[in-house]
Amino acid sequence: MTLALANARKPRRPPGARVAQAEDPLEDTVSAAGFLRTWGFAWEGELKLSGLRRLQEVVEALMESMVGGGRPADAALESINDAAAGCGWVKRLTATLKLAEEPRWRDPVAGLAARCLVEIAACDSRRIKRCARPECGLFFYDTTRNANARWHQEAPCGWRARAQRRRKQ
Ligand SMILES: [Zn+2]
Repeated sequence: MTLALANARKPRRPPGARVAQAEDPLEDTVSAAGFLRTWGFAWEGELKLSGLRRLQEVVEALMESMVGGGRPADAALESINDAAAGCGWVKRLTATLKLAEEPRWRDPVAGLAARCLVEIAACDSRRIKRCARPECGLFFYDTTRNANARWHQEAPCGWRARAQRRRKQ
């Protein structure tokens, strides 16, 4: 979900489309809510769009700095930690007598920031990449065995990039 948030405001060009769709899911509260629900994020109470947009920028800057295992940018790191500071953690005992920690928040943006922290901490930052097709540039997580993927997806980016290379030869 962290990567989806980082990519949220990038124009997309689905296979077959002639022009990129510059659709911003964070444009209004209805589309923002739909976007977050897609990623299984549930909340009650008011979703502050300004806070959400700020968080999106921070996550995008953070991913930008971390591409290929880079060191996270100080400012972005501080901002996301600040955003997540409004989220508390509650320890609970499970039925199998294990301790589980659950996030508790009032402001959904704080909960979202906390979820991003958990996801980022669990990932291998060397696998955070940016699509090699310049017109695309979406961030993606490389799950290939050798971590050698160059495009966020084969369709359309992989074959478009290869077709372009063939034309140049
Ligand atoms: Zn791509």
